Amino acid sequence: MAKKTTGKKTAKKTAKAGTVRTHAASARTTKKVVRKAGGKAPAKAAASKKIKPGKMVYYFGASMTEGDGTMKALLGGKGANLAEMTSIGLPVPPGFTITTETCEKYYKGGKRLPHGLMNEVHRHMAQVQKETGKVFGDNNNPLLVSVRSGAQVSMPGMMDTVLNLGLNDEAVEGLARQTGNRRFAYDAYRRLINMFGDVVMGVDHEHFEHAFDRIKDKYGAKVDTEVPEQGMVELCEAYKDVYQKRVADPFPQNPFKQLELSIEAVFKSWHAPRAISYRRLNGITGLKGTAVNCQTMVYGNMGDDSGTGVAFTRNPSTGENKFYGEFLVNAQGEDVVAGIRTPRPAEQMAAWDKKSYAQLMKIKTILEKHYKEMQDIEFTIERGKLYMLQTRTGKRTGAAAVRIACDLVKEKLITEKEALLRIPAGDLTQLLLPSFDFKAKEKATLLAKGLPASPGAAVGKPAFTAEEAVERTKAGEHIILVRRETSPEDVEGMHSAVGILTSTGGMTSHAAVVARGWGTCCVAGAGEVVIDAANGRFRVGETIVTRDDVISIDGATGEVMLGAIERVEPSLGGDFAKIMRWADKYRTLGVRTNADTPEDAQRARDFGAEGIGLTRTEHMFFEGERILPMREMILAESTEAREKALAKLLPFQRDDFIGIFEAMKGLPVTIRLLDPPLHEFLPNDEASQQQVARELGVPVEKVRERVARLHEANPMLGHRGCRLAVTYPEILKMQVRAITEAAIECARRKVRAVPEIMIPLVGLKSELAMLREQCEQTIRETRQAEDFAGRIEIKIGTMIEIPRACVTADEIAEVADFFSFGTNDLTQLTFGYSRDDSGVFLPEYIAKEILHGDPFQSLDQTGVGQLVEMGVQRGRGTNQGLKVGICGEHGGDPSSVHFCHKVGLDYVSCSPFRVPIARLAAAQAAIMHG
Ligand code: PEP
Ligand code: MG
Repeated sequence: MAKKTTGKKTAKKTAKAGTVRTHAASARTTKKVVRKAGGKAPAKAAASKKIKPGKMVYYFGASMTEGDGTMKALLGGKGANLAEMTSIGLPVPPGFTITTETCEKYYKGGKRLPHGLMNEVHRHMAQVQKETGKVFGDNNNPLLVSVRSGAQVSMPGMMDTVLNLGLNDEAVEGLARQTGNRRFAYDAYRRLINMFGDVVMGVDHEHFEHAFDRIKDKYGAKVDTEVPEQGMVELCEAYKDVYQKRVADPFPQNPFKQLELSIEAVFKSWHAPRAISYRRLNGITGLKGTAVNCQTMVYGNMGDDSGTGVAFTRNPSTGENKFYGEFLVNAQGEDVVAGIRTPRPAEQMAAWDKKSYAQLMKIKTILEKHYKEMQDIEFTIERGKLYMLQTRTGKRTGAAAVRIACDLVKEKLITEKEALLRIPAGDLTQLLLPSFDFKAKEKATLLAKGLPASPGAAVGKPAFTAEEAVERTKAGEHIILVRRETSPEDVEGMHSAVGILTSTGGMTSHAAVVARGWGTCCVAGAGEVVIDAANGRFRVGETIVTRDDVISIDGATGEVMLGAIERVEPSLGGDFAKIMRWADKYRTLGVRTNADTPEDAQRARDFGAEGIGLTRTEHMFFEGERILPMREMILAESTEAREKALAKLLPFQRDDFIGIFEAMKGLPVTIRLLDPPLHEFLPNDEASQQQVARELGVPVEKVRERVARLHEANPMLGHRGCRLAVTYPEILKMQVRAITEAAIECARRKVRAVPEIMIPLVGLKSELAMLREQCEQTIRETRQAEDFAGRIEIKIGTMIEIPRACVTADEIAEVADFFSFGTNDLTQLTFGYSRDDSGVFLPEYIAKEILHGDPFQSLDQTGVGQLVEMGVQRGRGTNQGLKVGICGEHGGDPSSVHFCHKVGLDYVSCSPFRVPIARLAAAQAAIMHG
């Protein structure tokens, strides 16, 4: 039987799921931008050239640059930033970007490269050749390029890359002569055959690995770098054999053929399952496709004077204004990102190559001043010369976002309002995360220490594959995903886990980047952890940890501990408090909370709630001694018997209300009268029914029979909400009496109480009119019985959660002091989707982009939103003083909060932990929409 849930279970996922931030500027995709490197006057040849509609390829290089940083929708984030970096004079290897629209055309045209694309590619390649003085596919002086994906929104590692394109049996010798390093040339060639075979032709990487192992054995090499030149030459032959065997064609020797197939492979990777999963999990929808960046290769693996690295201009975990990078000497970029080798911290770079480090520091400052934002960069040093390969806004934890925003204001780079807009409101949840109790940690058994990759304190049991993590999470376990390293294939498992632990990889490894983006606790590169996935365990020294053991990981320190360590709530202050103060300064929308206990009420007040927008009174009837009189009431055969049972519940209710009023100290408290169908209070199974019968001293048949009578085919559409008060007015009377007595008691204790009685699930004015009258009468009677003549103000209003109530809001408002939109039920009833059962089909709707997101998490603004807007307007039309709020789960969802601001609600109400999110989102809405 369907259960009426409070929607609380959706809160965590909502907080995790990111939303796509659209940049107004990026819509200006047709803007013609032709600038010369160094930001000087436009290069003549390019400036006079008109960018034609339908143009598929954009150039970036010292000779001309056709795009800029605002063109992310068309050129993808990477392409737009390569153009921008080139324009401001940074050392970027030249290349060109194929637009996202071309990817869209590829799919619309039945997965065929659009007509004319390769001609444009040839023309742009000619420009790269002119600029570099090298020739694509030349035997003597070959130009080599990389091909990389790059969508409008960054999707780390989700799509494909091919390096060293342009090499063939002859060009490899040319590269050997050009570099004076034959081993290097063949190393580059074998990487191309491997990547091309794997990424473009789908040959399993393992086949190449086996061939490599054989060569390593032959030359007695333990690691790749120990294989000598001759070994590399032989390896290329072996790889070509693997390729020929698996593809049933020789490795293509024509460089443009290689390029064409690679471009197509990148387009295809847009629809690879892992990319689709990533977009779904991150709520990324509505994009055209990926751009393809084709760029001159530079090499970080040309010897000990070469290297490669990735860095953040500030610390992405804490936000500290300290360059935060990692690099590897004599390596290619992929080695850093893939987490295969553990890199060295950037501080050590100065000792290795002082000049490049100094230049990098200069570039860091230029980039931050230019973008006025923390950047995530990739660079390569080829024989002592520094090249920038990428810059983008750096992903960061919620804590870092807050600190960086505050620091940038202090540094006078941005204003307070800009700072508020910089922080994704949903990410504030991470600041409110618990941490391990200091004392409890001291006593804990420390197993290992890795890198503090993403803060938080996670306690759970290890799972060793993504699938296992998903399954066991579904079964209700708290799982820590333990892997050597993670890859994009693992995202489902990573998302379902409470924490992630890896034994290799650095702060910029896949696990670290993805976990930080989600706010999931992660410890990376814990080298002492030896994983034995096949046997479902890992070992640290002598200690064996199995699937059934509990571990605790601290994402702020990198510690891995045995057992479940106690956690404590975070203490909020400093920059967080500053951001909240600024938010309150600019927002016009009120923020309340949904709370049913004095503890929740207190916590929400601490988070800045300005009242309670929803107290679900049914939650008060489940605990301890209360459930018994509740069941007695439900089993009662007469009004008198029901009243007798209700009288036992009254003192509990009254005391709860007193506790909440005291916690809220004069702030309004909206109390909803009983809402769920009564069957929810009775057990279904035989054993529990027998126990109820014993406890109440009635025959078990009576319990069974009552359960059967309460059965409804559609309980959510049945005997619930205000319908309970219509049929059992004595329930309403008890609750209203408890509220009034509590208010009187508070008045006597000199505590200001501001209760608001809220009647749920109203669809007719006559329902509310009648129930309002009963409430008023009960209040009068209670005052008399209490002999209280003092001032108590109790407003009476209704939830608007039935479409009919929205349509007839003008009538209903005549008998209501306030409206509160119950958008959980309103969404259910507007879509006709059961809020409890839609999980069966909604994920497919979202995956197939029939829906852009879960309407129970983020308000469907075009459908349900229209009803809300109509309800507000019609309600205020007949009752100008009508106060209007929202108390469905959407009240804490940033984009829904924006909507509430726009349609003129007075307040939003959400769970205590989402109050800061709502405050910030409300400020952002006020700044953006006025
Ligand atoms: C709602 O329907 O939006 C609401 C807040 O009430 P509940 O979730 O308790 O049905
Ligand atoms: Mg409801």
